[in-house]
Amino acid sequence: MGAMRHDIVCSLVNGPEGDPALYADFKYERRAFLFDLGDVHDFSARSLLKVDSVFVSHTHVDHFIGFDQLLRLHLGRHKQLKLYGPAGFTNNVEAKLRGYRWNLVRNYPYDLTLEVFEAGDAGLQAARFECRGGFDRVRLPPLAALDAAPVILEEAGLRIRAALLDHDIPSLAYALEQKVQINVDKVRLEASGFSVGPWIREVKEAVRNQAPDHVPIRIPLAAGTSGEAAEIPLGELRRGILRFSRGIKVAYVTDAAYTAENRRKIVDLAGPHPRRTEAPSDRRAGRSPGQRGGSPATRALPLLSEISFPARKPLPGSPGSLWRGGRVTPRP
Ligand SMILES: [Zn+2]
Repeated sequence: MGAMRHDIVCSLVNGPEGDPALYADFKYERRAFLFDLGDVHDFSARSLLKVDSVFVSHTHVDHFIGFDQLLRLHLGRHKQLKLYGPAGFTNNVEAKLRGYRWNLVRNYPYDLTLEVFEAGDAGLQAARFECRGGFDRVRLPPLAALDAAPVILEEAGLRIRAALLDHDIPSLAYALEQKVQINVDKVRLEASGFSVGPWIREVKEAVRNQAPDHVPIRIPLAAGTSGEAAEIPLGELRRGILRFSRGIKVAYVTDAAYTAENRRKIVDLAGPHPRRTEAPSDRRAGRSPGQRGGSPATRALPLLSEISFPARKPLPGSPGSLWRGGRVTPRP
């Protein structure tokens, strides 16, 4: 089998030295995650608009200054943005929002909604801020009690875990786990006479959602073939053209004090032998994130546990970054 193409491609957009922002791009969906919201000036509007969930470690300015730009870009759009952060995060988001006047937004035809989740001792607190409501805070029922490495987001295809680290203030590390990587066997696909298209995404989604084998999938036929489309049962496609492998796991760890307790939590989150990655930024490769291609190095992100270490230059006065003095054993 040739090189595995991953559905989720991660890049540290500002490099390991710049303001932290890890962009997780879902290549075949209109979707992306951001881990930390540092400077996002080099993002194209297109890639920022793909973002639907943001996972903020803590709200030191270098991790959160991109909030305004993300908000500005999404105003006037019908969209739900989910934002996750540590204790106090909802107040930080609200204070940002209260920095502006919102008398004009009540008549907007489209509504932007921010859903804010705060991982603290009491569990996952939730609040909503709606654009047409002038971004007034609406309290939602709390979601879950937190254990040592809580799952803060669980979907059919992926989960996000968080670990609460000590950085003098609470700082969250996150792990994105794709449950399974589904690839199409190109040779078999060609032999089947079908050509690639949006239907492949539909198949993958159905498989992730554990749809029954008899569900019919409509596949448009190539030009020149008689008939317009074929309907093939999902089970046949699953056995015929799909290949399954372990999904990627990426841990995002940033500012944290170099303590035994933090180390233990990071190992719990990322696994004992993560591969240390400081992915070259797309900017250095002369591309904006979300653009097709990406540098060879970002494409070649390894399959298994990865760990990203941005922000080696913490703010002045900030407790030492864990990984300045830390060592990580590379996976053999
Ligand atoms: Zn910090």
